[in-house]
Amino acid sequence: MTPSNQRCSVAIIGGGAAGITAAAVLRKRAPQLSVTIVEPSSTHDYQPAWTLVGAGEYDVATTRRRLKAVLPAGVSLIQQRAHSFEPTSNRVQLEDGSILEYEQLIVAAGLQTNWQLIDGLVDTLGKNGVCSNYSYDTAPYTWECVQGMQNGRALFTQPPMPIKCPGAPQKILYMAADHFKRKGRKVELGFCNAGPAIFGVPFYAKALMQVVKHYGIATHFGYNLVAVNGPGKEAVFETTVDGMKIRHIEKFDMLHVTPPQSAPDFIKNSPLADAAGFVAVNKHSLQSTLFPNVFALGDCAGTANSKTAAAVRAQAPIMVSNLLALRMGSALSAQYDGYASCPLTTSVGKIILAEFGYDGVVMPSFAADPRKPARRYWHLKKRFLPWLYWNQMLMGNTGPDWHAKREYPDTLPSISP
Ligand SMILES: Cc1cc2nc3c(=O)[nH]c(=O)nc-3n(C[C@H](O)[C@H](O)[C@H](O)COP(=O)(O)OP(=O)(O)OC[C@H]3O[C@@H](n4cnc5c(N)ncnc54)[C@H](O)[C@@H]3O)c2cc1C
Repeated sequence: MTPSNQRCSVAIIGGGAAGITAAAVLRKRAPQLSVTIVEPSSTHDYQPAWTLVGAGEYDVATTRRRLKAVLPAGVSLIQQRAHSFEPTSNRVQLEDGSILEYEQLIVAAGLQTNWQLIDGLVDTLGKNGVCSNYSYDTAPYTWECVQGMQNGRALFTQPPMPIKCPGAPQKILYMAADHFKRKGRKVELGFCNAGPAIFGVPFYAKALMQVVKHYGIATHFGYNLVAVNGPGKEAVFETTVDGMKIRHIEKFDMLHVTPPQSAPDFIKNSPLADAAGFVAVNKHSLQSTLFPNVFALGDCAGTANSKTAAAVRAQAPIMVSNLLALRMGSALSAQYDGYASCPLTTSVGKIILAEFGYDGVVMPSFAADPRKPARRYWHLKKRFLPWLYWNQMLMGNTGPDWHAKREYPDTLPSISP
């Protein structure tokens, strides 16, 4: 039987943080529009809590809910993968060969995790001390590894950007370091980062280097993980010196891997993509620079913000305002400032709440110096933000929003992780 084609006012590709939030905001503001989400998964994950799962501070089962439980009322769901885009005819082809026709399209398909790009990783992940907080299935094993380390060498890796939540690779590093310290375990710690610095925003990076010093962590910048031999407990890193690639073999007892990530292949290979494979959009309006009736938000948008759920919360109302303005023939006046937030767990119990916008502009929600690790932000991350996500953001209530550009002295406050 030939699968039947469908039509809607607004098609949303992806039912993750961005797709569900955008649909909910849209339903609130324009209930007359028919909205269809295309999403292959039957579940929806709160990924930001996986960092805490890896530190034994959160139950992984509570990070997952049935997709239908978070689908906004009145929104239709097509439970399959979008295969390709035909933006000149306002059509998306689905995996079963059927067509979804739209008036406007929102692309919200997230980032693709490319585990297979690291030789040997897929075979050893989840055993031999090789763990990762970057998936629902593997995050609990991180905590097993942390608990099991009595002594030896623990390495934590970070691949080239872009990745979801660029602070996440070092969050687990500090929480593991804190655990070892409290238990009096002599563990040698290394942070192997393909990038050139601990964090992309210098204002926060200076404070984070104090945290690194506090725990005696050895940092290796420009160190890119390319292969893992789990049973042999060896990790292979590549560095580039004078244009030459050099390989280094490092022994480990525990290896926390952050996988390489990219735009999803079906976007990369589509007419919607920019040179890097993400959806080409105006960084302020979130409208496609190639097809005016196409918008994108979340991790798959070709914007230079930090890829976080916090960014989605800021983007969704702006993107929806502009999409509706376009329908009315009005100017697209809502502007996204690149806001993102990264709660950097400096220990089990304290956080540096890094909030910033495009070009590293510091934009905290609270007036206190955000470089100072604080216990109140731990409660915010562990209790308030999950509640906000499930009960407000995914329901289309994207406030409160107090972030603002603020100035602080150059001198660091005292950093006590
Ligand atoms: C370990 C970790 C820690 C993090 N910590 C934080 C944090 O502290 N704070 C924070 O704000 N953010 C954090 N994040 C990032 C945050 O989870 C993401 O930025 C957010 O989920 C992005 O939303 P999204 O909808 O763009 O992508 P996702 O939520 O990943 O959703 C994308 C959806 O698109 C679907 N999809 C993919 N391909 C197709 C297709 N072909 N057709 C249809 N649908 C498709 C997927 O199935 C998925 O449901 C963290 C992420 C991780 C992994």
